[in-house]
Amino acid sequence: MSDLSEKFTRKCFLENTGRLCLQVGLSAILLGCSQPQPAATPSPEPSPAPTPSPAPSQDGTKAGTAEAGRNDPDFLPAYVRLQRTGELGRRAEELWAVMESCQLCPRRCGVNRIKKTSGFCRTPGATLVLSGAHAHFGEERPLVGEGGSGTIFLTHCNLRCVFCQNWTISHLGRGAEATIDAFADMMLWLQGEGCHNINVVTPTHYSAHILKALDVAAGRGLRLPVVYNTSGWERLEILAYLDGVVDIYLPDFKYWDSAMSAKYSAGAESYPEVTRAAILEMNRQVGVAKPNRKGVMERGLMIRHLVMPNDVAGSEKVMEWIAANLPKDTYVNIMAQYTPLHKAYDYPEISRRITGEEYRSVVQKARALGLTNLDIQGYWMVQ
Ligand code: SF4
Repeated sequence: MSDLSEKFTRKCFLENTGRLCLQVGLSAILLGCSQPQPAATPSPEPSPAPTPSPAPSQDGTKAGTAEAGRNDPDFLPAYVRLQRTGELGRRAEELWAVMESCQLCPRRCGVNRIKKTSGFCRTPGATLVLSGAHAHFGEERPLVGEGGSGTIFLTHCNLRCVFCQNWTISHLGRGAEATIDAFADMMLWLQGEGCHNINVVTPTHYSAHILKALDVAAGRGLRLPVVYNTSGWERLEILAYLDGVVDIYLPDFKYWDSAMSAKYSAGAESYPEVTRAAILEMNRQVGVAKPNRKGVMERGLMIRHLVMPNDVAGSEKVMEWIAANLPKDTYVNIMAQYTPLHKAYDYPEISRRITGEEYRSVVQKARALGLTNLDIQGYWMVQ
């Protein structure tokens, strides 16, 4: 267990998360944004928090009940079996050791994060920094259901796109330190609030922390599926540790062209090739996403593709690859909400929103290719 557990105990969970919100200065991350809002398009941006929520119990008992979530009562998340055998804890320790010469992502910096060195992602060593958590009603409908997606925002990022909507969190690392124990309690609290899943946003550089927290939380009664909400730029060696742990993979497929990923995502030339291989592996692990009888997703692959102006993302090529390499009923969310933020105005070709025609042509192409499980809520944005 990390030494962080001594800094941030379960007892001070509430006090610290409240302080965290104040430090970060974003009402959007107030824990307990549980008032339903119309599910529009999925967005990586935290939703406004209309009302603070009730406090989690100090001992986690409310959160620890299996029926606290509203999923199918027969559903058992994959990680519970691994936790019972001790395998989850073993994997967490092995993954933690990878940070001694960090290879957690394709940057492969080789820095010793255990000794508090930072690599490209700027994560302060092995210290966990969280930005916030809430029931999110702006994610994909099958993740939102009635109770919301239990979203936890992790700080820093290994990709650092110039147009990032969450740049204060991902580039600047705005958040507060937390222990593994508090991270686990956050998951249990979201379960207690009735969320349908635990949605870890930008998880790659914290994969070891996530496994450790899941190990603790599962022991205390966490029974929600885990959504691995990633840029898609994942190493196969690391995904092997997540096999049987992650229930829902939610990868982006951002670019088709390596020149584009290098230009807009800090030199990440390998993005298209690495992400294609990662998505194939994710599909092998969890298969096609199919909702349960209540319409809530509990397992499977859900791909996000953000259409960008001037076809910077290579959208039609992305659709062609999906149609040729994955089942035709693969869930693909074609997103229309690109907004030029952060440094996007330094690049004229991405300094505007997309047009209706740009969006429609991608959807038409996907349909013509025979893709049958398209999430095209973006249509309303481009009318
Ligand atoms: S997770 Fe961070 S430190 Fe580790 S290899 Fe990636 S960018 Fe480097």
